[in-house]
Amino acid sequence: MENGLLMKMIFLGAPGAGKGTQAEIVSEKYSLPAISTGAIIREAIKNQTEMGKAAKSYTESGALVPDEVVIGIIKERLAMDDCKNGFILDGFPRTVPQAEALDNMGVKIDLVINIDVPDEKIVERMSGRRVCSRCGASYHTKYNPSNKGDICEKCENELQIRKDDAPEVVLSRLKTYHEQTEPLIEFYSKLGVLETVIGQEEVADTTALTLGVIEAKRQGR
Ligand code: AMP
Repeated sequence: MENGLLMKMIFLGAPGAGKGTQAEIVSEKYSLPAISTGAIIREAIKNQTEMGKAAKSYTESGALVPDEVVIGIIKERLAMDDCKNGFILDGFPRTVPQAEALDNMGVKIDLVINIDVPDEKIVERMSGRRVCSRCGASYHTKYNPSNKGDICEKCENELQIRKDDAPEVVLSRLKTYHEQTEPLIEFYSKLGVLETVIGQEEVADTTALTLGVIEAKRQGR
């Protein structure tokens, strides 16, 4: 753990590019909260809350949940005390109106890290992804296996395949990404806060590049 990083960051990238994994690592290293709208939505679906029921059909078919719903989630979360000094957004914003809403909330983003992975790799990666439905930890059978096999290292719960990681849903999520989320690369590039990291085979190699970008930003390079 390393203190002293007061940064508001966004992790951008296709589904399965490794945003969540990197966000967790950076969160732990710098003691910044990592906020995943996908995880919040999955938890709401599991608990069958009103929001969860409304989001279920979108998420399970690979579509985006309507902007007003996710904007509401983020507004509530960013108002919490732990976000005062900085945070990492993983999976939000995913559309230009969501990015505009963030701006309208007065949130000034310092750094957007775009993790770039080609579509063919994404499809391969999604097929090996395993998640813990209790604590949300994410693994990959080949690239980031749990040292306990099919069991979560952190909470010893059985690992599962996410419903929306089924191959046909993955293709639909990629299409959604290219149509609705990719324009954010230009949006944040114009604001001068975008840095691209090429996603590597090994998680640790992507982490090294990601930390390099963060440290360069911190030192004003
Ligand atoms: P993720 O875990 O980030 O891949 O998100 C899983 C699913 O949750 C997505 O496929 C969407 O259905 C939904 N979701 C997560 N974040 C957003 C967002 N910012 N806008 C709309 N839908 C979202």
